[in-house]
Amino acid sequence: MPTSLDTKIEFLKGVGPAKAQALNTELGIFTVADLLSHYPFRHEDRSQIMAVAELKNFVDIGVQLVGKIIPEGLTGQGPGRRFTAAFRDATGELDLVWFQGAQWIEKYLKPNETYLLYGKVNDFKGKLSIVHPELEVLTADFQPSSLGLVPVYPLTESLKRKRVDSKMLAQLTKMVVGQSDFAIGENLPQEICKKFQFPSRTDALRMLHAPKNVASLETAKKRLKFEELFYLQLRHLQLKGNRNRTYKGVIFDQVGKHFNEFYQNHLPFELTNAQKRVIKEIRQDVRTGKQMNRLLQGDVGSGKTMVATLCMLLALDNGFQACMMAPTEILATQHYFSVSESLLPLGLRVELLTGSTTKKRRKELLEANASGEIDILIGTHALLEEDVAFQNLGFVVIDEQHRFGVAQRARLWKKGKVLPHILVMTATPIPRTLAMTVYGDLDVSIIDELPKGRKPIKTVHRNEAMRTSVMDFIKDEIARGRQIYYVFPLIDDSPKLELKSLMSGYDMVTEFLPPPDFKYSLLHGKMKPSEKDSEMSKFKNGATDIMIATTVIEVGVNVPNASVMVIENAERFGLSQLHQLRGRVGRGAEQSYCILITGHKLSENGKKRIQTMVRTNDGFEIAQVDLDLRGPGELDGTKQSGILDLKLADIRQDEAILIAARHEAVNWLEKDEMLMLPESEPIRYELSKTPNRTIWSKIS
Ligand code: ADP
Ligand code: MG
Repeated sequence: MPTSLDTKIEFLKGVGPAKAQALNTELGIFTVADLLSHYPFRHEDRSQIMAVAELKNFVDIGVQLVGKIIPEGLTGQGPGRRFTAAFRDATGELDLVWFQGAQWIEKYLKPNETYLLYGKVNDFKGKLSIVHPELEVLTADFQPSSLGLVPVYPLTESLKRKRVDSKMLAQLTKMVVGQSDFAIGENLPQEICKKFQFPSRTDALRMLHAPKNVASLETAKKRLKFEELFYLQLRHLQLKGNRNRTYKGVIFDQVGKHFNEFYQNHLPFELTNAQKRVIKEIRQDVRTGKQMNRLLQGDVGSGKTMVATLCMLLALDNGFQACMMAPTEILATQHYFSVSESLLPLGLRVELLTGSTTKKRRKELLEANASGEIDILIGTHALLEEDVAFQNLGFVVIDEQHRFGVAQRARLWKKGKVLPHILVMTATPIPRTLAMTVYGDLDVSIIDELPKGRKPIKTVHRNEAMRTSVMDFIKDEIARGRQIYYVFPLIDDSPKLELKSLMSGYDMVTEFLPPPDFKYSLLHGKMKPSEKDSEMSKFKNGATDIMIATTVIEVGVNVPNASVMVIENAERFGLSQLHQLRGRVGRGAEQSYCILITGHKLSENGKKRIQTMVRTNDGFEIAQVDLDLRGPGELDGTKQSGILDLKLADIRQDEAILIAARHEAVNWLEKDEMLMLPESEPIRYELSKTPNRTIWSKIS
């Protein structure tokens, strides 16, 4: 029966209504075209037949063998119960093991047949075995090369139960792409295909689903990865283009009295070159009439707040209000204090609005804000409430954006008559490739320089047995007038147990450093905001020596006199979290230290994280290691994006392809922004076929 791309899969040989139904619901595969866009995630090399004698060097690897099977029978009890058999070829013997389906296997195995076997080799104390091998009776005309590279497809458990397996999908796709008239629409412009010497889409799919050899498989993958990344970038760029066409940004064309007065007379320090450069980039942006959407990345302590402050002054100078939103009350309060302190000489009205602002006060603030009396409003999520209105909001700063969801940021847009410029700041640097992928529609500024005179933080790893010496060190530092952060993780990530874990931590520390000789602040997530404030300010004022805390202090807290950060159970923290925590120290002129305490036994991954922290202070390097260890989907702020569920491309390994794809997408839209040219036909075809995916940064 001839098949076209629109053919329903139930009409393919060997599929039938039940399996088709399963493929519909489980994988969204309805037609032949859907089937072909369900890519294999790896290929098994079935072109080789190995000998049992050479398997020693292939432990944990899938191998193919030919030989006879001698069933042995059932052994063991309970869950350990299994069926075993011996597999023998001319060179030796190994065990086959089945934990399930013993009855069926027993009936199926024939001692006189020759089998083709595929499976992963296990080595248990020198004894080799294969669990649940794939078996097939060898036919007389069998040739190993006829199998070649076999695609392995992602499947769900439910599909496997319905006997839809990878082998079946491989047979189906092979049949489809093997048809002489098989052809699928081209979705890359000829010019691009030519430039990169890509095969046609038809050939690429043929080479992916039924590859002849490794080289052609690689060629196919390169093209399909490019295709995937090209469209991701194109969509980012289109989004940005649409936004720029649809929305006019407010124009800040003057640098006025507030900015100049502050810059010339009240700046508490000289800006770093990186800070100056970023301010310049932003000024360039906001005077063009386009609406700015900029991501500001800068390592902890790089001075993002001052950049934000200067930008807000720019807004005021042009007759607009500004606001600044932070993810936690502590942070919002701290921003409020530092911004209002810096701006004190200018006589501006800076206010704080959080969840714990009293009703009466809130009402006053809202009125003043709506009438434009407030120049800069700083706060938490409370700023997003329906009734918070501005007279003319022109500039929004969002600190530590990864904690804000999409919908929340969307609400900020509606606050004013015009669309404000948006500056999103993050101290969790993300590698360039990830930034391009997740924030491809945002402009990015980077502060890659710390203020002068900062001494790099010394980081050490200590295990629990060395705690006494850690405590002695802390004592010395306190005697020298310094302050200490002492951080405990949440037990089982349970906020309920937070207090308990903190109190037992407190007991442990006070045993070494007893009050009242040593004075303590205590901070945890379950405290009332007013209590948090008072604990925080005691520490900030130097009334206490040691701040015992959970990760509530993770982001942004600034106490320059604190010089030691001790982190207990450091292996439980993620890399970016450790880096954030460490960033709480090293903010003054003193040498600062970060002490990571762990148990003796560390997982490989845990060890790498600790080693990375000890080795480097560079947030970008740490972010790269984090990406390598965890994979892109696990990084802060990317989970919700849904952008990273790429089918073939891996931004960790395919950076070169990503950069090329971005470059081509930029060039193409520069040449044909509206995609009207005849040579843009393949692009129009692709875009019409696949609806736009939601891109979370769309609305920031
Ligand atoms: P982050 O980028 O982590 O938000 P902050 O804005 O909190 O960093 O700045 C960290 C500290 O560095 C603050 O105490 C701030 O006043 C100080 N600072 C910022 N810029 C400079 C500079 N150019 N020179 C000296 N100190 C600076
Ligand atoms: Mg900050």
